[in-house]
Amino acid sequence: MIIRVLCCSFPSMPLYTNKPFSPPDLFRMTFPAASDSHFLSAPVSLPEIFTDHYHDFVVNWKHMISSSLDFEHLLEESTRIHGHLCPGQVLGVKMSMLGLKEAGIKDPKGKDRKNIIVFVEMDRCATDAVQSVTGCSLGHRTMKFMDYGKMAATFLNLKTGKAARVIAIEESRLTAKNLFPAIENKYAAQLEAYKVMSDDELFEVSEVRVEIRPEDMPGRPLGRVRCEACEEQVQDMREVHVDGRVLCRPCASGGYCEFFHGERYAKKA
Ligand SMILES: [Zn+2]
Ligand SMILES: [Zn+2]
Repeated sequence: MIIRVLCCSFPSMPLYTNKPFSPPDLFRMTFPAASDSHFLSAPVSLPEIFTDHYHDFVVNWKHMISSSLDFEHLLEESTRIHGHLCPGQVLGVKMSMLGLKEAGIKDPKGKDRKNIIVFVEMDRCATDAVQSVTGCSLGHRTMKFMDYGKMAATFLNLKTGKAARVIAIEESRLTAKNLFPAIENKYAAQLEAYKVMSDDELFEVSEVRVEIRPEDMPGRPLGRVRCEACEEQVQDMREVHVDGRVLCRPCASGGYCEFFHGERYAKKA
């Protein structure tokens, strides 16, 4: 069996295969040259290339196998939930894996599920991947949507207060475009490139501090009041006080919709 491996930057070499393989296969792998765009055409035996780095390689290889399998599994799951495989899924899965690692969250859907909140800054394909990998959702109040239009998310560990913001590097789009020039469809090329690019090439990570207000935490609603204009109920202290009146936000500053039969809000949309 020959397995192709794309080598972007040895020794942190990302796998370019989703087939599991065992150590004896190492000697029959096809390796590309250690540059981003040149490939050796013939299979080359591993010791010839990496004699001096063999131990390092095996250690990295073991790490790569486990993280790669996690990635493949998570990508499969997010693709199923999202409905299609796209560059956003690859990016979102990788972004989440990195953010969780940086925030020290090992088991987001298991024992850490009550210790995590994610702030997403985009409502794009990648957002579904973040939801799929972290298990965080708007409904659980563990996902907060910040409408910034940026390909970024912050992963907060509620137990330790540690938080990491991960943003996709704009230049990575260009790198991705050049990595697979043979693939005509630019989205397909981007998708394949994102799969093999390293976290360093794809993302910038910052350690950040996030204050969560009690009314934004998961759990029972902290408050419930009636808007004095439209008389609809408002939960979680989202009401506003204007000239001594308690109002819902759309009554105070306009809502997102207009009613066909009689305006309901005090302020026009
Ligand atoms: Zn998509
Ligand atoms: Zn109102």
